[in-house]
Amino acid sequence: MNLPFAESYKIKMVEPIRKSTIKERERWIKEAKYNLFNLHSDQVFIDLLTDSGTGAMSDRQWSEMMLGDESYAGASSYFKLKNAITDITGFPYFLPTHQGRGAENVLFSAMIKEGDIIPGNSHFDTTKGHIEFRKATAVDCTIAEAFDTNIDHPFKGDIDLEKLEKVLKEYPKERIPLIIVTVTCNSSGGQPVSLKNIREVKQMAEKYGIPVFFDSARFAENAYFIKMRENAYADKPIRHIVHEMFKYADGMTMSSKKDAIVNMGGFIALNDKPLFDKASIYNILFEGYISYGGMSGRDMNALAQGLYEGTDFDYLEARIKQVEYLGQILKDNGIPLQNPFGGHAIFVNAREFLPHLPKEEFVAQTLAIELYIESGVRGVEIGTLLADRDPETRENRYPELELLRLTIPRRVYSRNHMDYIGAALTNVYKRRDQIKRGFKIVKEAPILRHFTVELERR
Ligand SMILES: *Cc1c(COP(=O)(O)O)cnc(C)c1O
Repeated sequence: MNLPFAESYKIKMVEPIRKSTIKERERWIKEAKYNLFNLHSDQVFIDLLTDSGTGAMSDRQWSEMMLGDESYAGASSYFKLKNAITDITGFPYFLPTHQGRGAENVLFSAMIKEGDIIPGNSHFDTTKGHIEFRKATAVDCTIAEAFDTNIDHPFKGDIDLEKLEKVLKEYPKERIPLIIVTVTCNSSGGQPVSLKNIREVKQMAEKYGIPVFFDSARFAENAYFIKMRENAYADKPIRHIVHEMFKYADGMTMSSKKDAIVNMGGFIALNDKPLFDKASIYNILFEGYISYGGMSGRDMNALAQGLYEGTDFDYLEARIKQVEYLGQILKDNGIPLQNPFGGHAIFVNAREFLPHLPKEEFVAQTLAIELYIESGVRGVEIGTLLADRDPETRENRYPELELLRLTIPRRVYSRNHMDYIGAALTNVYKRRDQIKRGFKIVKEAPILRHFTVELERR
């Protein structure tokens, strides 16, 4: 008998979670203005809102917290983190930030000006927000296959080199300060980018004299997929693959709340000393002195340890296989999903799930609300609400994919939780014809509206 896959860790401490009734949840979600971000966490049974900062730290990370050096400058925790980052990524320079968007804010302040063009693969929402806030434009060059959830392409995060070259030819070099490659590509479904594609993007960027930066929140999960799906790397250790990935980048921004398995933190790492010096000024202005940048010494220690744990093969295998396990349950029950499964989440194709709802009624949000009422499982809309309005026309942007994301926190839930989620969404799927109405907006913010939007039933 083949031994089944099992987690490469065991539980030392538990956190109780609260069950509730359908009646309670109907009331709570109404009080929350049908915005799942407004729910109190004790109104949620299984929280799949995000994998960001929601992971469980290890006993070794908690031990590192106790060793934190809280000196303002020159703390040992700073050097511990610096060494870990250089060891894992190869970049010699780094700036700590409070989280990923802090890194974007600092780096983009040093690099992006009004009117600039930033090509990339489905820029993440905060990345796009920071680009558009500077009156620059993010141009999506992701391969077309990414937008058809039924195509089984191994690297749906890949950049379409023709689309990229078209942008590089159309605009002068002075207006393209950088290319951003997101690994894995969150917005297109947690889909990886192949090393072949990374290499080709870098070659093209060099031809046009433009630096390449990775938005690296899930770089380790990306490396796992490269190992599993790209033949040339099947026998290479994860850290070797990670090194090779970053070899083709000039720098990176990192949300440590993802693959570094800490609850808060981020950083910039790069090769170029003059750019490091320029960014350091913004780091001091926005984040904190360059030896802590919004993080405590103890947090930097836990992050340094997390970078090693997050790039461990056994851990990554347990992580990705758990996500896959949930995906398989849903797939076996006929639920339309993004294929292949993403690294950190299962993406449900809400438009195919509820084909009778008009796109103006926020289809993925409607599905997220139904799943919550059914089960207390909180997913998140990756669709029209998240896509925001066009900054110029102020019209709703209707993205190519309308998705419900079920994001799995790292090292937090068990297989029984996955079974529960699978049964809950299957129940909603069986009664999908009775879901006849969606939602309309009553109140929204001018940018990143999904966090605070208020809705009512149509
Ligand atoms: C989470 C994330 C960010 C932003 O990081 P925060 O830590 O949430 O500020 C940027 N890019 C990607 C791809 C992300 O997943």
